[in-house]
Amino acid sequence: MSSSAKYIFVTGGVTSSLGKGIIAASLAKLLQARGFKVTIQKFDPYLNIDPGTLNPYEHGECYVTNDGAETDLDLGHYERFLNVRTSQANNITTGRIYNNVITKERKGEYLGKTVQVVPHITDEIKRNIFLLGESGEYDFIITEIGGCVGDIESLPFIEAVRQVRWELGPTGSLVIHLTLIPYLKAAKELKTKPTQHSVKELLEEGIQPDILVCRTEMPLPMEIRKKLALFCNVHLNSVIEAMDADTIYDVPILMRKEKLDERVLAKLKVASKEEPNLDQWKLFLSKLKNPVNEVSVGIVGKYVSLPDSYKSIAEAFVHAGAQNDCKVNVKWISSEDVTKDSVANVLNGLDGVLVAPGFGERGLEGKIEAIRFVRENKIPFFGICLGMQCSVVEFSRNVLGLTDASSTELNPKTKYPVIDMMEAQKKITMKGGTMRLGAYTCKLKKGSKAYAAYGESTIEERHRHRYEFNNKYLDQIEEAGLKPVGINPDSGLVEVVELKDHPWFVGVQYHPELKSTVLAPHPLFVKFVEASLEHKKSLTK
Ligand code: GLN
Repeated sequence: MSSSAKYIFVTGGVTSSLGKGIIAASLAKLLQARGFKVTIQKFDPYLNIDPGTLNPYEHGECYVTNDGAETDLDLGHYERFLNVRTSQANNITTGRIYNNVITKERKGEYLGKTVQVVPHITDEIKRNIFLLGESGEYDFIITEIGGCVGDIESLPFIEAVRQVRWELGPTGSLVIHLTLIPYLKAAKELKTKPTQHSVKELLEEGIQPDILVCRTEMPLPMEIRKKLALFCNVHLNSVIEAMDADTIYDVPILMRKEKLDERVLAKLKVASKEEPNLDQWKLFLSKLKNPVNEVSVGIVGKYVSLPDSYKSIAEAFVHAGAQNDCKVNVKWISSEDVTKDSVANVLNGLDGVLVAPGFGERGLEGKIEAIRFVRENKIPFFGICLGMQCSVVEFSRNVLGLTDASSTELNPKTKYPVIDMMEAQKKITMKGGTMRLGAYTCKLKKGSKAYAAYGESTIEERHRHRYEFNNKYLDQIEEAGLKPVGINPDSGLVEVVELKDHPWFVGVQYHPELKSTVLAPHPLFVKFVEASLEHKKSLTK
């Protein structure tokens, strides 16, 4: 049925942050577990062309896909749940839609016409909705509409959905509305009114939702379900309860219990041969919930007060922990809190330390202090992107004695620019979408820890940075013991460094966290957790 893909839209009402991305990913998981091919797409109603220029405090992590698109962090959930890759086509913003339309207008493609929101913007939205379906690769396209129903920004998207529904007929598409049923403690009651209002709002915009997914702290009693069904014109069995879960990875199981997948298939008149096979998923959950061991790792970063800024790193630890039957307690450490005097105290009791990615920051010296401490004390270290760059700076300063060594991002006048901007990057003046982005090949040296983790010598990992290991210092750094063990075969750029005579000290220029999924935990995270566990055991021997 690939050529006639079905379209499922997920809208949100009452408040933001109800977890549309997790519901969409969970439904996709259930359909995938029945043997269907599914992809998920997110429409973001803001004017940035992509979230690449947004501060992580505003919008959480920027998730990078293989094709180098800078996207919303929900795409990370999609990949982690489905174990299939997404791309630029999976994340479209209002900014991109307008940009496409305005570019066409300048080319003269609308010659003679007045270019308007309806039909030109809505047509461009529809073109993007159908793009994935037309590839013939999928049975279902799930499209998540960012923001809340009733927002001015999301109106053109909702209008496009209305038109798609009209064009495809009743079994071609459906709308799931995610809503909140608040519990009023004083009245000891669950309240349906906000949901009634938000469905009314959708109706005003021309859309009758087919299924209500209701976020709630309490189980939904039958009378509440009946009330919602009656006032929102949905079938009783299409009122789906979504209780708060211990982990996001429980949600597919909860949605299965509520038969969300069955309702979707019935409404779209799709016959399903199989029951969903969730064996592997359940095995992961059981390992996650019954750890045999426990480790504590520190994540040293700039945006630690908002852990969404490092969403993929946090989730990669969940996957790698389960794989090791080990609970990973994460301590978030602000790099600005780490100084020469405080470092021993701040890192006390940690079995491993990860130094996080970041940009042009003041807390760099803290990251460098943390790395010196774990290098000298032989505590497992994992450096990602800026974290790897800091390990090169630390090593150059404290082992090679290049006192002033730095990255030119932080000190353009340094005498020893051991991390420097690539020549190609120096000419770039536009900030948006111009970093080294997306998947690049890397060759690993046999005998290295990275090689042992991946079990192969040619790997492909995703990038998002402008600065690089400066190969002028390569021989000097290698000779002193920080080994470049992963190299890009086309450009010669250093991708992985490892320290000699250290139990586990690995720095990577790329972002391994972006590829970690429930069914395929990232090998470097798995090995880092393992090394942290060994470190812990060695102390108690
Ligand atoms: N700021 C560094 C660079 O641009 C590192 C980027 C990152 O950590 N993602 O090269």
